[in-house]
Amino acid sequence: MENGKKVVTIAYGCQMSERDAETLTEITRDAGYKSSDQLETADLVIVNTCCVRESAENRILGKIGELKKLKEKNPNLKIAICGCMVQQPGALERLQKRAPHVDIWAGTHNLSDFSVLLRRAEQEEKVAEVWQEPKIMIESTPLAEKGKLHANVNIMYGCDNFCSYCIVPHVRGRERSRNPEEIIREINYLVASGCREVTLLGQNVNSYGKEFSPVYDFADLLHHVDQIPLLLRIRYITSHPKDLSDKLIETVAKGEKLCEHFHLPIQSGSNFILQRMNRKYTREYYLSRVQKIRDLLPQASLSTDIIVGFPGESEEDFEQTLAMMDSVHYSQAFTFMYSKRSGTPAAIMEDQIPLDVKKRRLQRLMGVQNQVSLEWRQQMIGKVYEVLVEGPSKTNPTRLAGRTRGNELVVFSGNPAIIGTLVNVRIVEAGSWTLVGDIERS
Ligand code: SAH
Ligand code: SF4
Repeated sequence: MENGKKVVTIAYGCQMSERDAETLTEITRDAGYKSSDQLETADLVIVNTCCVRESAENRILGKIGELKKLKEKNPNLKIAICGCMVQQPGALERLQKRAPHVDIWAGTHNLSDFSVLLRRAEQEEKVAEVWQEPKIMIESTPLAEKGKLHANVNIMYGCDNFCSYCIVPHVRGRERSRNPEEIIREINYLVASGCREVTLLGQNVNSYGKEFSPVYDFADLLHHVDQIPLLLRIRYITSHPKDLSDKLIETVAKGEKLCEHFHLPIQSGSNFILQRMNRKYTREYYLSRVQKIRDLLPQASLSTDIIVGFPGESEEDFEQTLAMMDSVHYSQAFTFMYSKRSGTPAAIMEDQIPLDVKKRRLQRLMGVQNQVSLEWRQQMIGKVYEVLVEGPSKTNPTRLAGRTRGNELVVFSGNPAIIGTLVNVRIVEAGSWTLVGDIERS
């Protein structure tokens, strides 16, 4: 069914937002829309939003402003703004006032209802729907775009952790785990259409299945996904350090396709700040988890998320975060300045840190991490790594690019016929962001 109409979908934020955007695109496909990336000729633009930091919100507000100009040129254009930003308590009214040109507003729990909202908007109605709770567990619609090498697969929704700075539990609701049979069915479907690598998504994958009886946890799920024929690699995000079990590390160590990469957000290296963040672990506990990983998987890569300038963070607290970078040797770190999110406990804490201090700390942290990441890549020189060939390199299309099991990006020369396969690559050079290698001839 095609009606000649085109949809452009834009996602901001995390992989879960990207995955939701894919679901929305899929729903519009069923309504006859063809996916496109040309805004000028679009009949429908969907923006799936993020509200984790103010900077994301500002970028999205800018985009909504741009879309207004587009609608002035093409009054038939329909605009849909969906997801986390719309779901925030009290946000809808404010957004509607600011952007009356938007046709559809939909919260995170309203994806399942999007086809109805779209039909109403097509009848020239302005619609807004923000349910406070999910009415049904939306089983992911399988990816429509066949032949994609990599796919994101939701294994759970929501978060119960309530870290004191974080808006996610307020906009994504309570933790709900999908049935393992459904997840495996979806991955089998994806593999049949050419997918070779999946990333299993959840805000805290280590608490997957905690409501299941009999017991079936994340390690059990990984073990079962590892058995799927033709699938080459399995990744997952995000592991909350407090719930990272020995069983999980052992399962990864024994697994065949389970990548030896742990994204283990530490957020801060100071116990005082960790406690105020409500992270429920100490730096010592975190380091003991890292040690367990290193004992069983010496070559595993670790990456992390860090927030600087959390309320009350002193220079000493910050120094402890810097010290963690040296102790753990992260291959990669995503670093953020603390951003006040209204409705969260940290937003009303005393001792908010001035912007110039946050900026200075972020600069210093990034400087240290760049050095640590470079050292990590340099120790890879001369060694051979299994690489999944993803396609032409973005920076040099005459070469190929792919990732190691540890998620490090490698560029090398080779015949495009090997795209989608595993090759062994010897690392010869460590650039500031990527590695350069040569395929090993067997
Ligand atoms: N569920 C994941 C992360 C979700 S949000 C986890 O617990 O690790 C992704 C990252 O955004 C977080 O790890 C944190 O580092 C950052 N973040 C979340 N809220 C933030 C805020 N208010 N200000 C700055 N960074 C924030
Ligand atoms: Fe936010 Fe913490 Fe939940 Fe991650 S675990 S989504 S940081 S509340």
